Amino acid sequence: MSKQRFDELRKQLDEVNLEILAVLNSRAQLVQEIGLLKTGKGTERFDPIREKEMLDLVVQANTGPFSDDTIRHLFKQIFQASLGLQEEEKKSLLISRKNKSQDTVVQVGPLAVGGGTPIIISGPCSVETEAQMEAVASHLQGEGIALLRGGAYKPRTSPYDFQGLGKEGLRILSETAKRHQMVCVSEIVTPEDVEMACEYLDVIQIGARNMQNFELLKAAGSVRKPILLKRGLAATIEELLYAAEYIASRGNDQIILCERGIRTYEKATRNTLDISAVPILKQESHLPVVVDISHSTGRKDIMFPIAKAALAVGADGLIIETHNEPAVALSDAKQQLDLDQFSTLLNQLRQSGFLPTTVQA
Ligand code: PEP
Ligand code: MN
Repeated sequence: MSKQRFDELRKQLDEVNLEILAVLNSRAQLVQEIGLLKTGKGTERFDPIREKEMLDLVVQANTGPFSDDTIRHLFKQIFQASLGLQEEEKKSLLISRKNKSQDTVVQVGPLAVGGGTPIIISGPCSVETEAQMEAVASHLQGEGIALLRGGAYKPRTSPYDFQGLGKEGLRILSETAKRHQMVCVSEIVTPEDVEMACEYLDVIQIGARNMQNFELLKAAGSVRKPILLKRGLAATIEELLYAAEYIASRGNDQIILCERGIRTYEKATRNTLDISAVPILKQESHLPVVVDISHSTGRKDIMFPIAKAALAVGADGLIIETHNEPAVALSDAKQQLDLDQFSTLLNQLRQSGFLPTTVQA
C-alpha cells in the first residue's frame, strides 16, 4: 500500500470518528429529552424490554464485518452511558448542598442554629409538673441555656408507660420558657396537632419513631416554624434526608437534623451513635445538624467524651436531657443528668474549648 493511500485512509478514519462522535451526542440529546419526559412520572429510567427491542433492531440491520455479539456489546455500552446521563438529569433535592452551597442558619428566637456557634438544647425527657419545669428552667437559664425541651406527647414503647401531659404539657413548657426568657421545643406526633402546637412552641420536634410519618412531615412542612427532625431508629442517612425533603418540599426550609443513634446489635449503649452521620449530613445537605447525646447513649457516664466527639465532627449543637430529680423521672430516668451534673458537663466543655465560654446557648 502506498504511503499516500495509507495517510488517506487514516484521514478518513479520523473523519468517521468525528461522525460517530456527533451521532453519539445527538443520540445523547434524545436520551436526555426522553429522561425529562420521564421525570416525575414514576417511569423507570432503565427499561429492559425497550433495551432488548433496540438491540434486536440494530443486530437485525447488522451486515458486518462486526459480529452480532460485538455489535450487541458495543450498543449495550452506549445504552449504559446514556442511562447515566438520565441519572445526572435528576433534580437534586431542595435540602441538598448541590442546590445551596451556604449553610442554612435556623433562627430560633435569639439562637442561630448552624451559625457557627454550637447551641445546647436541654430540659427533661417529659414535662411532668410546673414545679419540675420551673426547677430545671431556672437552672438552665442560670447557665445561659436558651432552648428548653420537654416532651408532652411521649411515644413510649409500652402503652402502660407515662404517655405525657399532652396539650397541658405544652402549656407548662411554653409558659416556663417565657418566664425565663427562653425558647422551647417539644415533640408532636400527629399531623392534626402541628398547627395547634405552633401557638406554644418555637421549634416542633419530629421524633425518631415518626421520622417516616409522611403525613406528619407534610404537616410540618406547611407551617412556618423551625422543625427538629430526628433520625429514625433504623433509618439510613438517605432516608433521613428524604424525610427532611418532605418538609422542605412543602415550603418549610427551617429544618434542624438530629443524629440520635441507630439500632445495632450493641447493648452497651441504648443506641449506637453514628458519629460519621454528622459530617456526611453536613456534606450532603445545607441544614444544621445536632447530636442528641442522651438518647444515643442512654447513659450518663460517657457524656463528656461523646459531647466532645459530636462537636469535633462539626455538630451545630447538642441535645442533653436534664431533670431536677432524675431518679424519679417518669421517663428515661437512667439517662437524664441532674442539674449539677449538667453544669459540670457544661464547664468541662467550656474549659476544654469545645464550647465558647460566652455561649449563645
Ligand atoms: C425525645 O427527644 O424526647 C425522644 C423521644 O427522642 P427520640 O425520638 O430520638 O427517641
Ligand atoms: Mn427521653
